[in-house]
Amino acid sequence: MDVFGLLGNPVGHSLSPPMHEAAYDQLGLEARYVTFEPEPADLEAAIDGADALGITGLNVTIPFKQDVLDCVEADELAARIGAVNTIDFTGSGTPTGHNTDAVGAMRALRDHDVTLEGADAVVVGAGGAGRAIAFGLADAGATVEIANRTEATAHDLAEAVPGATGHGLEADMLADLLEDAEILVNATSVGMESDETPVPADALHGELAVMDAVYQPLETRLLRDAAEVGATTVDGAWMLLYQGVEAFELWTGDEPPVETMNEALRSQL
Ligand code: NAP
Repeated sequence: MDVFGLLGNPVGHSLSPPMHEAAYDQLGLEARYVTFEPEPADLEAAIDGADALGITGLNVTIPFKQDVLDCVEADELAARIGAVNTIDFTGSGTPTGHNTDAVGAMRALRDHDVTLEGADAVVVGAGGAGRAIAFGLADAGATVEIANRTEATAHDLAEAVPGATGHGLEADMLADLLEDAEILVNATSVGMESDETPVPADALHGELAVMDAVYQPLETRLLRDAAEVGATTVDGAWMLLYQGVEAFELWTGDEPPVETMNEALRSQL
């Protein structure tokens, strides 16, 4: 029996267990996916314990994505992003750390026929999700503008992402940036707890592809505004799906049953 799981605090709301367990059922794998909620001070002990117990793989979420870098051998992308969301214990020695948020977000966009190579992209938010998405877009050949409430954080991230520029979150500036852009991604938590948007509706246009990292609710105000002007919309469950698909493949080496995982995920939303 392989044991996989999610390490976070809190993790009670997680949609990952049903998504991964649907894949195990579909492929007839003897495996379980469970959630773990250690105290932040016990993170290293939790990773060592998971390794000692023979756990196969762990996803990592808030607040551990950055701190876990000290406990694993991060791959090149995770080290650049500065965050790990997937730990693989299957090798010998130190567990390896990966970031499937970046690849997952790019797969979500490509899945909606969005061309990344050569695109002008605006990423709003420069936290964990924003970092992964900005590096993912730049690696795929897009030019990235990063806008963040705390402007200094946007500048710090822009310095690390090739070709990127950092900005604050003023409405006029967003409208200027979006005028010639093809891609907009919301990587802030705005829209999650209230019907708000970080981008004024009148800055959106029909040539944009708009992805929201927020997946609860699925249809955020930003995505509603984007649909109204005829933009392509990509909800946050697509990114969540593909980060899980990438982790599943990394851990098992099996072809992930994407449709099954998508259905299981969306049935929870
Ligand atoms: P995080 O590291 O805490 O970053 C939060 C970001 O949101 C920061 O850029 C922060 O700006 C900004 N922000 C928060 N409140 C704001 C407000 N009222 N106005 C403007 N900006 C605000 O969180 P995270 O891990 O990046 O997650 C961000 C969102 O992405 C969450 O909703 C999370 O659920 C979602 N997410 C989705 C997926 C997926 O697979 N779909 C994966 C990861 C995360 P400051 O720097 O100014 O504080």
